[in-house]
Amino acid sequence: MTILNIGSRRPTTIAAPPPDWKVSARCRAEDVDAEDFFTTARAGQRRARGACVQCPVIVECLRQTRAHDDGTYRWGIGGGLDGLQRRALELEEWLGNRPNLEMARLLVSAAWLGRLARLRSSCGSLDGMVRALRGDGLMVDVVTVRVAVWWSGGQAPRVAWRGDTRSLRAVVGGELLEDVLRLRERGARYTDIAAWMGVPRDTGVRALKDVLAGLEAEEAS
Ligand code: SF4
Repeated sequence: MTILNIGSRRPTTIAAPPPDWKVSARCRAEDVDAEDFFTTARAGQRRARGACVQCPVIVECLRQTRAHDDGTYRWGIGGGLDGLQRRALELEEWLGNRPNLEMARLLVSAAWLGRLARLRSSCGSLDGMVRALRGDGLMVDVVTVRVAVWWSGGQAPRVAWRGDTRSLRAVVGGELLEDVLRLRERGARYTDIAAWMGVPRDTGVRALKDVLAGLEAEEAS
């Protein structure tokens, strides 16, 4: 932006102010009910997620929402994610897994959303979805696909949702164990880790306690 400095008659160049991304927010539209973003009713939450996935500033909103999340207290849907999902995303980052949000936005665009939904139905795990999307030529990782599935309104557990007949306890004590131990070292609570796994809280906490108590007993013997 160039303005005229009247005093010296010399043109002065100043940086353009950052664009106010909030003016493009889908939730500012008259047909969107702000209460849907803070309700516990599923229908309202579904409408809020539907607004977010169409929102052109979902990436900016998620960043800002997360910057304002207070410790372990998270409420409402912001940036397309609910409080538990934002907590799970924080734990992903504790493990070094940072999503590519622009890529996640591509995955929920009109061109890819149908493909994402079909893969969610057919693959049975996040790893399987990642393999398929890489086969399509997209360099995605698990946490990026996870965010995209959340944005699309789906569940994206860290455990396989089809084809793995083992108990959750066996999965926690198997391929998830190293990550679970790292998260505990970082101070994550059992409920947080259950959210990270994307499983029902009580089931997840029980499996975690069983596995970790078993490890302690082994060490003590
Ligand atoms: S992502 Fe959702 S909550 Fe954020 S600005 Fe857009 S519609 Fe509003």
